[in-house]
Amino acid sequence: MRKLAEACEAITATTKKLQKTVIVADYLKSRTVDEAALSAVFLSGRAFPAWEETTLQVGSSLLWRVVAELSGNDEAALRAAYRKHGDLGAVAGEVLEARSGQGSSILEVGAAFRQIAAARGPAAKTMLVRDLLARATPIEAKYIVKIATGDLRIGLKESLVEEAIAKAYGSALVEVQRANMLLGDIGETLRLAVEGRLLEAKVRIFHPLGFMLASPIESAEEGLSYFAEAAVEDKYDGIRAQAHVADGEVKLFSRTRDEITESFPELPHALAGLLQDAILDGEIVAWESPGRARPFSVLQQRLGRKKVSERMLQEIPVAYLAFDVLYARGELLIDRPLRARARVLDELLAAERKVVHHGGTETQRKTKSLQTTLGFEAEEGSTGVNIIRAPVFRAKSPEELEELFTVAQARGNEGLMIKDLDSTYTPGKRGKSWLKMKRELATLDAVVTAVEYGHGKRVGVLSDYTFAVWDTDGGTNKDRLVNIGKAFSGLTDAEIAEMTHWFLEHTIEDQGFRRTVEPKIVLEVAFNNIMQSDRHDSGYALRFPRIVRLRSDKSAGDVDTIDRVREIYHRQTL
Ligand code: AMP
Repeated sequence: MRKLAEACEAITATTKKLQKTVIVADYLKSRTVDEAALSAVFLSGRAFPAWEETTLQVGSSLLWRVVAELSGNDEAALRAAYRKHGDLGAVAGEVLEARSGQGSSILEVGAAFRQIAAARGPAAKTMLVRDLLARATPIEAKYIVKIATGDLRIGLKESLVEEAIAKAYGSALVEVQRANMLLGDIGETLRLAVEGRLLEAKVRIFHPLGFMLASPIESAEEGLSYFAEAAVEDKYDGIRAQAHVADGEVKLFSRTRDEITESFPELPHALAGLLQDAILDGEIVAWESPGRARPFSVLQQRLGRKKVSERMLQEIPVAYLAFDVLYARGELLIDRPLRARARVLDELLAAERKVVHHGGTETQRKTKSLQTTLGFEAEEGSTGVNIIRAPVFRAKSPEELEELFTVAQARGNEGLMIKDLDSTYTPGKRGKSWLKMKRELATLDAVVTAVEYGHGKRVGVLSDYTFAVWDTDGGTNKDRLVNIGKAFSGLTDAEIAEMTHWFLEHTIEDQGFRRTVEPKIVLEVAFNNIMQSDRHDSGYALRFPRIVRLRSDKSAGDVDTIDRVREIYHRQTL
């Protein structure tokens, strides 16, 4: 472990990527294969390979207590060290300076991590962590703690470890990257590189692959500027999930490759009916009959639960909208173009009778969906089982794309995903083959409740507006307005003059510098995000609010509710 810690110190000392790779490659070559394989995992900032579900389940406070105890220092000294370094590993390295264990080998550290992960309860874990750190030298303790907290912070990304493996064992970088992507295990990848067997790496079912990611676009024109033929899907507001299905067994993995099967017990049941083993990519959404996704805040109530009550299952049913297939019929499909994968997915889901899918040709589907703002229709006679092939549309012009965007939003979805029909599936990569066209920054409609005189050139005019939304108490009752923000007017001088006149005439109470006014003037307000705050009586405050425009077409009854504010707040806190 000392050698690894020293290599880490050397890696930290240089900012040059090439230099870092050389240090890692030299270090790996100097170790046995077992040591190098484990080191590769540690150097990627992990205690266990990426695909594994195993975690240490050791929090920073437990580590903190053990470090404090071993150092014999009081809390104040530890806190001072923490303020200096801002990193618990570095603190351990410093405060354990005076007492040094005899040192541990990297394989011993690996074995200790496995024991800690397997131990149940904080007492058992604390004992094992204490043993491990007591044996370590200070510099080893520093890196053991860093790896245990999952935060190595030596400026080394997993991609650099891949480069180092290629360099150390004379392998082609693309082969290393591909093997690591398929296996989700950089240590195993290293072993294959050593043996010259990288090409033998195969996808393993129930080992999650990385997710392909999308780049944002600014306009419909941009959406069609990167490739010739675009498949367009709604962008659903749920959580991304990779579904692995084999022999009737099903596991769902989140974007962070954590298993989330337990939270959605209705999905494995439905997916188990697939006629072939497969790995699907899709989005889990809260689902509303007859066929539309509910807002993310609704789905959120289902997240992170180990046990899902019958009532939850009834009240917030979920659906899996499958939009890609990575593996089927015993074949890895990621190198095939999207147009071919889409066909496989269509067949796969169509073949399963229990699965709800959308019949009709693409054109029929498009016309149908453009006609309705209500959402997708489940096939007649369907059993209501919730695996759905995400409908695919085509757009050949920016106008068509805009039209699809509008209907997607009318269905309550976030916007569109625009995908290159000729593109392969690139796990873990964000490129220009998948584009996302999202709802513009959310705006709120709010009503002005109070006004203040401005400053500078706005002295003498009422140009600071406090605005409010309805607190409907979860219902529809609109008799209580709650303030959510205050902004300088973004209106023109003429509009402000006109408004000043109106506010003076409709003042409820003149408080000197401030006037409460009749809640009649509706504004559309943009903002960067929403904070919880006791500054206003709503309990929320808009951050950087800007008045976009007067909504003279709207009356106070039309303004947003506190529920929508909460929903935006929850969405952004993901
Ligand atoms: P963002 O989270 O804004 O970066 O957007 C990308 C995310 O949109 C993906 O990770 C998915 O979770 C989600 N998404 C929703 N609908 C789709 C779709 N049809 N295709 C791909 N991703 C989608």
